[in-house]
Amino acid sequence: MADDPAGAVHLSGDKLLTPELTRPPIAVSLKEVRKRFGRFAALDGVDLTIEPGELLALLGPSGSGKTTLLRLIAGLDFPDSGQVRFGGADVTLAHAAQRGVGFVFQQYALFRHMTVAKNIAFGMDVKPRRERPSGAERRARVQTLLELVQLDGLGARYPSQLSGGQRQRVALARALAVSPQILLLDEPFGALDASVRKSLRRELRRIHDATGVTTVFVTHDQEEALDLADRIAILNGGRIEQLGGPQAVLDAPASAFVAGFVAQANRIAGEVRQGLFTTPGATLPASGLADGPAIAFVRPHDLAPVAESAGGIAVRVQRVTPRGGLLWLECVAAEGLVLDAAVARKDVQPPVPGEPIRLALTGGHVFADPG
Ligand code: ADP
Ligand code: MG
Repeated sequence: MADDPAGAVHLSGDKLLTPELTRPPIAVSLKEVRKRFGRFAALDGVDLTIEPGELLALLGPSGSGKTTLLRLIAGLDFPDSGQVRFGGADVTLAHAAQRGVGFVFQQYALFRHMTVAKNIAFGMDVKPRRERPSGAERRARVQTLLELVQLDGLGARYPSQLSGGQRQRVALARALAVSPQILLLDEPFGALDASVRKSLRRELRRIHDATGVTTVFVTHDQEEALDLADRIAILNGGRIEQLGGPQAVLDAPASAFVAGFVAQANRIAGEVRQGLFTTPGATLPASGLADGPAIAFVRPHDLAPVAESAGGIAVRVQRVTPRGGLLWLECVAAEGLVLDAAVARKDVQPPVPGEPIRLALTGGHVFADPG
């Protein structure tokens, strides 16, 4: 078989699994990475290992250092100190072209004067002659990628003839065309409307599962990160506050920031005494926490309407909005505190705006109030 010139044909029977599209995935690791702009620490000591073939979301608010971290992984910028490794290799000072990374940015960086097919082939076309695949190979690869991103038949179009979502599919195909070791996406769906974003997210997951390339996806959208990623690294002020699977970051937030940002939880002020959090009308276990002022982070579905005799936090209903199987209750408690509660529609008689009700806490995470 070794000298059978048709051997490659047997291998490429499954289009998605052509050897060129599936290099063995590698790990990426960052050790004590720091980056300043002037006196401002954009990255303040980042340690992170992305497992081979993993799809990791880098989630954080605007200005938390996500793009800076992605640029250091890409080799578009370099850390002041610390180390970046791809597999066993130290690439800290290697330039982007030496690292074999593919990128997709929020702003479509497609070449407007080139067809879709030319855009996708670009990374292959500009390779030095010795490394460049033959014309036939490049055309075959473009065809495989068009099918992978579900743009079969649109290779002859120009970017201006595509929707925003289609352009981002082209950008993704172009990034994959050079068989990157690592795929990096910086808020790639940020400019698209909600429904397109949601379907592209699922597409990206499918494409990731087909190619197996180690992928880092930057977003400030909690739902997007939770929906898409194997694990989520939560960045705040240039530091990773937590790294874990979607369940772990929701159910066991490592900090008040994570509890508030990822779960979009209500914040209820109170007091911890002897391992019990107390706020007027409700308590929560807070074992291990020192006595003092504290904040409970309570997700909307952990606030449940109860009969007045059962206690609960006294609130007034402001707005009642059905969302799918849920009824979303926007309520106001004492001192203007707004509380969002989400209850199953089948479980409640919808309250009327203006009605006083009681909300019990069925769960939540308590952290000391930093003051
Ligand atoms: P994110 O992508 O999470 O919104 P960035 O990584 O772009 O955040 O930026 C992190 C912080 O570093 C921000 O406060 C930003 O203003 C600052 N920053 C980023 N790039 C530069 C730069 N080239 N010069 C000066 N400050 C920068
Ligand atoms: Mg950014």
